[in-house]
Amino acid sequence: MFRQLILGVGNNWLVAHTMQQYGMQLGARRFVAGANLDDAIGVVRDLNEKGIDATLDHLGESVTQLRQAEVARDSYLNMLDVIHAQGVRSHVSLKLTMMGLAINLDAARDNLRQIVERASDYNNFVRIDMEDSRFVSDTLALFQETWERYPDSVGAVLQAYLYRTMDDLTRLSETRKNLRIVKGAYMEPATVAFPSKPDVDDNYVRLVKYSLSKGNFTAVATHDETIIGQVLRYVKEHQIPRDAFEFQMLYGVKQSVLEELALDGYRTRVYVPWGHDWYAYYLRRIAERPANLLFFARNLMKR
Ligand SMILES: Cc1cc2nc3c(=O)[nH]c(=O)nc-3n(C[C@H](O)[C@H](O)[C@H](O)COP(=O)(O)OP(=O)(O)OC[C@H]3O[C@@H](n4cnc5c(N)ncnc54)[C@H](O)[C@@H]3O)c2cc1C
Repeated sequence: MFRQLILGVGNNWLVAHTMQQYGMQLGARRFVAGANLDDAIGVVRDLNEKGIDATLDHLGESVTQLRQAEVARDSYLNMLDVIHAQGVRSHVSLKLTMMGLAINLDAARDNLRQIVERASDYNNFVRIDMEDSRFVSDTLALFQETWERYPDSVGAVLQAYLYRTMDDLTRLSETRKNLRIVKGAYMEPATVAFPSKPDVDDNYVRLVKYSLSKGNFTAVATHDETIIGQVLRYVKEHQIPRDAFEFQMLYGVKQSVLEELALDGYRTRVYVPWGHDWYAYYLRRIAERPANLLFFARNLMKR
């Protein structure tokens, strides 16, 4: 309900315009590593020193022209070059609508292929983020095609709030994949997604257990400490090796919990977004937690 409200209001032109102008001072900086790749690489270096890996995301989505998608693709190719040259431990995460998915499927496929090929050259890895439910089928189809060519270099994301996800996971698990499981961050109608949070949480745990039991490399991407506890118990009981899964969190959220997991010897990774196009990302972070709206409001009062 809160999420629907925030994401709905956030789509208003005036709100979007004001936020774009002042958002960095109004708290977006908490969730975004910086405007430039250099800022983000600095953050990755600090994380690496604490035993935590990263996945870098150049913020942006829903481009409307193929030229913008090509610029985004080139930015990702450059990012992979820089990660390699700087010797930091980081994957990349991207959104297919930034690669042109909403305007031309073939162009998005080709942009993705070039990025995954570059990642493969460096023994690196590309995670395809999952966007709203309109894009799930195409995203999974492009993931499957690309995976057939570069099985070690690309992974997908599945959202626990969607009714369809257990079927998607069952199909994807016919051969081992690298999958990130999240609860889901978009505004979705009850026709496609569980409206109740306890149902989403239950489905999340069911999906993670199933994914681990099928031998997928499973990225447990949540800040929910109850769920993390349940996963830790499950992997111990079923003797799942530590290199078969990792815990992931978003930059700016509960990093101390991830640091403790890293100290305990678990694989960990922080999602590190950077760039100017932070508005939609920041809105989703506010929508996830009512307290973030207070944080935003406090910054507004300080001005
Ligand atoms: C690494 C990573 C990658 C992701 N990729 C995708 C993706 O590709 N597609 C997609 O739809 N979603 C993605 N998400 C977002 C995800 O779907 C959820 O919206 C988000 O993680 C919040 O859910 P939660 O699992 O943390 O559980 P919740 O039950 O929402 O939160 C549990 C607790 O975590 C803390 N918390 C959660 N969110 C915030 C926040 N924004 N600010 C402060 N504290 C917070 C709070 O203490 C909260 O009580 C990703 C999340 C992570 C961690």
